[in-house]
Amino acid sequence: MAHYKLGILKGDDIGLEIVPVAVEVLKAAVEKYPSVNIEWVELPIGYPSYLETGETLPEKTLQTLYDLDGWLLGPIGHMAYPKNDPKAINPHPILRRQFDLVSNIRPAKSHPSLPCLHQNVDIVIVRENNEGFQPDRNMYKGTAEFMPTPDMALSMRVITRRNSQMAARTAFDLARQRNGQKKVTAIHKNTVFKLTCGLFVDSCREVSQEYPDITFETMVVDTFAMNLVMRPQKYDVVVSSNMFGDILTDEAAGLVGGLGMAPGLCVGPQYVMAQATHGSAPDIAGKHIANPYAMVMSGQMMLSWLGNRKGDQDAVKAALEIEKAVIKVLTELTHVTPDLGGKSSTEEMGEAICKEIRALT
Ligand code: NAD
Repeated sequence: MAHYKLGILKGDDIGLEIVPVAVEVLKAAVEKYPSVNIEWVELPIGYPSYLETGETLPEKTLQTLYDLDGWLLGPIGHMAYPKNDPKAINPHPILRRQFDLVSNIRPAKSHPSLPCLHQNVDIVIVRENNEGFQPDRNMYKGTAEFMPTPDMALSMRVITRRNSQMAARTAFDLARQRNGQKKVTAIHKNTVFKLTCGLFVDSCREVSQEYPDITFETMVVDTFAMNLVMRPQKYDVVVSSNMFGDILTDEAAGLVGGLGMAPGLCVGPQYVMAQATHGSAPDIAGKHIANPYAMVMSGQMMLSWLGNRKGDQDAVKAALEIEKAVIKVLTELTHVTPDLGGKSSTEEMGEAICKEIRALT
């Protein structure tokens, strides 16, 4: 019997709609595997938590997460939080950092039935999650963005060998597991950022020595950005520092149907957090038309990751069944949300996925 303690953190706006759907799909998937026992723990976070407790990330939520194996985090609409209230912080960079979730795994996969710029796209971008130019997460204290004069602003970037190697190792492990081209492409701009991008690429190259079965190549970010649009099929697993990865993963999502099609998994040595690439989409919140795919597949990746880590084949099988069911729903296109050309609600698409899971023998 494998026991998992998983958190439900709905987040903001469409998070309140897509996270419950992802949880229902995970519950449906493990129904037929009694050996996979999931204990669910719902925790307050984001603006609903602020209204209830006065904090967007209550200490109790933070401390409870240490006892969990992993959690689903819905999107965070922090741009709408009250300004100048220190209790209205953006929680997700804190979670990524506090739980050492160094690698953010973001797949972009085309589906033949959906309009995409290209078919046969199957890329995974591994983005370093806690350093780079993001000023709210790369310093021990304070922020890495500052203004020495009213007319000059500076932003500092942090790159370390440790985190670069950890992200690279995640990328190489994935390249080995996948039925892909067995290739890792490291993205950089060491022509200009000789020290920071230089360290990032050197760290990836060092890790590549441990994986002689995987081809390793490096590419300048601007060239890669163009190639990704023109010839995405050339890539298998891509590893990048934080800011480049943030931009490139949205570009990759745009190749395969938009942000609703972009799942993600933040992983570290001990914890795992399922978090879709997209934001809280306030423009469509409350309308029940958000595409739940990204959140559902983020949960699917978490189950698969935990199953592999615990050597629990039933959990891995349950995760595979979620993927099969989702592909069926996307192929038939009768129960999909408006962004995919359908008329179904978020919940109806979720129910269709659950139905397909239960129909699998
Ligand atoms: P967004 O990703 O929320 O939305 C961009 C566009 O994509 C919108 O038109 C939205 O309707 C659409 N979209 C996003 N997810 C969708 C889904 N599942 N189904 C259908 N359509 C979807 O980006 P934004 O509007 O720039 O940001 C909104 C808020 O989210 C801001 O507060 C921002 O800071 C925050 N944000 C959070 C995260 C995160 O939590 N990881 C990431 C990005 C942005």
